[in-house]
Amino acid sequence: MMMNANDLIAKKRDGGTHDDAEIAWLIDAYAAGRMPDYQMAAWLMAAYLRGLDEAETLALTMSMTASGQTIDLAGLPRPVVDKHSTGGVGDKTTLVLAPLVAACGLPVAKMSGRGLGHTGGTLDKLESIAGVRVDLSPEQFRAQVARIGVAVVAQSAEVVPADRLLYALRDVTATVDALPLIASSIMCKKLAAGADAIVLDVKTGGGAFMRETGAAIELARAMVEIGRGAGRRMAALVTDMDSPLGHAIGNALEVREAVDTLRGDGPDDFMTLCLELAGRMLLLGDKAATAAEGVTRARRALDDGAALRVFQQLIAAQGGPSDFDGAGLPEAPVQVAVTALADGYVRRVDALALGVLARDLGAGRATKSDAIDPAVGLIVHRKAGDRVRWGEALATLHAGRRDAPTIASWEARCRDAFAIGAAAPEPRPLIHAVL
Ligand code: URA
Repeated sequence: MMMNANDLIAKKRDGGTHDDAEIAWLIDAYAAGRMPDYQMAAWLMAAYLRGLDEAETLALTMSMTASGQTIDLAGLPRPVVDKHSTGGVGDKTTLVLAPLVAACGLPVAKMSGRGLGHTGGTLDKLESIAGVRVDLSPEQFRAQVARIGVAVVAQSAEVVPADRLLYALRDVTATVDALPLIASSIMCKKLAAGADAIVLDVKTGGGAFMRETGAAIELARAMVEIGRGAGRRMAALVTDMDSPLGHAIGNALEVREAVDTLRGDGPDDFMTLCLELAGRMLLLGDKAATAAEGVTRARRALDDGAALRVFQQLIAAQGGPSDFDGAGLPEAPVQVAVTALADGYVRRVDALALGVLARDLGAGRATKSDAIDPAVGLIVHRKAGDRVRWGEALATLHAGRRDAPTIASWEARCRDAFAIGAAAPEPRPLIHAVL
């Protein structure tokens, strides 16, 4: 049947439902340059307003996955697992989770991203370690997973080109925050990376892409359905990102916290999240009969040093120093304690405010082409629920050399991110939902 963009736009505008062939036609035509931006923009807005059902969302994801290179993990012991976080502040989970799960005998093949806006990216964190490379070819990626059980690399330009084009168009046509478009955009990258089982960490709260827990659960559900529809084993945790995860925000600072965690000395919230995600990955990967058994196994791999050893192998395999233990990471020349101006309890630590501040310090990017400073960021000393007295440090700023007014304005912004009150707040759960 002959198709044309105008008819398909009209069909979605009028609330119609596309079949798989129609979705494939739209994506193929757009990726090949046969459909101009203005027509795809019109279709995106129609899809934004009318929605896409489950079958349309799966078809969209599959077409975007097929638009470029997909990673062939043939020859590796199966299943291979992957994880994905929707992004947050202080989220250095992959640095711990990938070697931890690999140390339990389950291969981890992970494509990660860079930080943008207030959220950090795993690749930037890894690159704060001297010599580390993340631009492995698909062959090097597979060979490294075969050799040491884990690789963490950048997505190459040949993977999901249709998503790159569509995302850029969504960004300038007010069509980013449509659930089926977000779910398919995230999942096509995961499907292209080739893993058999995927655990999603969907964040909720003030520092998350999906602030409302209900919306985060809906997104998690949509992504789980896509993955299952594509024949992958799926699980999702909806986890808290109202406050920063752990204490460290900023690339080298987060690497140091990840190393401490691999040594068994990490912050409670971060350690718990890593173990819970690991438990789910081990369950999906047939290495544990229940998630609880997976958590116990992962705990053992942390306690006996196996996870740290795999992390060191990962760093060395990707060009970093051997036996990396956190030494040699860049350090910021200016370190300023930000103190409390009242006695009381910390009621909230605003993840978004601190994420934006870390970005402005140079730890992140406002636009994709910005350079980052691996040394800068902040360490949060007081978390929600902690008691604090006047004059005690809430956080330490790690900054580049700047004039005194700039440093003072950062200090004020950091202090404002801590709400202090007379009573302790109701604790927020770390894990809001499990799917
Ligand atoms: N992240 C993605 O990769 N795609 C979206 O559409 C939104 C967030």
